[in-house]
Amino acid sequence: MSDLSNKVILTIAPTGNVPTRQLTPHVPITPSEIAADAYACWKEGASVVHIHTRDSAGLPTSDIEVNRQVMAELDKYPDCDIIRQVSTGGRAGKSYTERGQMICLSPDMASLATGSSNFPSKGNYNDPETVSFLAGEMAKYNVKPEIEVFDTAMIWNALRLAEKGEIKAPLHFNLVLGVGGSQPATVDALMYCYQHLPPGCTWGVSAIGKDHVQLSTIALALGGNVRVGIEDNIYFAKGVLATNLALLQRMKNIALAMGKEIATPAEARLILGLHKKSN
Ligand code: ZN
Repeated sequence: MSDLSNKVILTIAPTGNVPTRQLTPHVPITPSEIAADAYACWKEGASVVHIHTRDSAGLPTSDIEVNRQVMAELDKYPDCDIIRQVSTGGRAGKSYTERGQMICLSPDMASLATGSSNFPSKGNYNDPETVSFLAGEMAKYNVKPEIEVFDTAMIWNALRLAEKGEIKAPLHFNLVLGVGGSQPATVDALMYCYQHLPPGCTWGVSAIGKDHVQLSTIALALGGNVRVGIEDNIYFAKGVLATNLALLQRMKNIALAMGKEIATPAEARLILGLHKKSN
C-alpha cells in the first residue's frame, strides 16, 4: 500500500437541491443522469459521490425509492467502486424522519449538519433532536457521517456528539464555505475552521462562489480534501456554465500540479475508515 498521507480525496456533488435545468442544462436530475455523471467523474479520479435526489418534477426529495433507483443505476457500472454518500440536508424533506429515510439503504456515508444556520432565503434547521435522530440512524446502519460545517459552532456540536458516543472517531468534516446565510467563502473562515478541527480527523472543503477554486487550492495546501460539482457551483468561470466533469478535472489537475496524488476509492475508504464496500 502506498503512502496515504499525500492522497487527496475528490468528491463530486453533481446535483444538489438548488440547480435547475432552467439554470443550467448540465445538472443531472434523473437517477440515470446522476449515475452517469458519477461514473464519468469516477473515471477521472472522484472517489466519493455526494447524492441528492429529485422527484419527477425535478424538485428536491428524500424519497427512499428515488434513492434506491440511484443506487440501482450506479450498480449498472459494476467496475465503479465510488463511495456513495447520500444527503440528509434540510431542503429536501420537512421532518427528520423524512430526511433520514434513505439511510436504511446503508450507503457508505451520509451528510450530517450538526447545527442550524441559514440558506439564502430560508432556515437550515438542524436542531439537537434532528441531529441525534439522523446520527442514530447512521450508527444503526453502519453509515459514516460526513459532518457538514455550515457555521463554526457545528465543529463543537460534532465534538459534543462524539463525547456522547452518538458519532464515532475518526470524524470526517466538510467545511462548507459560501452558502448565503452561513459562513463566508473567505480565507479567514477556512483558516478558523481548519485551526479548530480536532486532532486525528479527516476533512475537506466545499467552497461556493467566485473564489471556490482558490479556497479549494488552499485546502489542498493545508492537507485537506476537496468537493466540487454543480451543487456548489454552476459556473466554471465567469459566464461559463460548468459540467461536473470539467470541475472535477480542473481540481484533479491542480492537485497533481501541487505534487499531490489522487486517492482511489479503495484508498479513500482506508483514509476515511470505511469498512465495507457499497456494492
Ligand atoms: Zn449536498
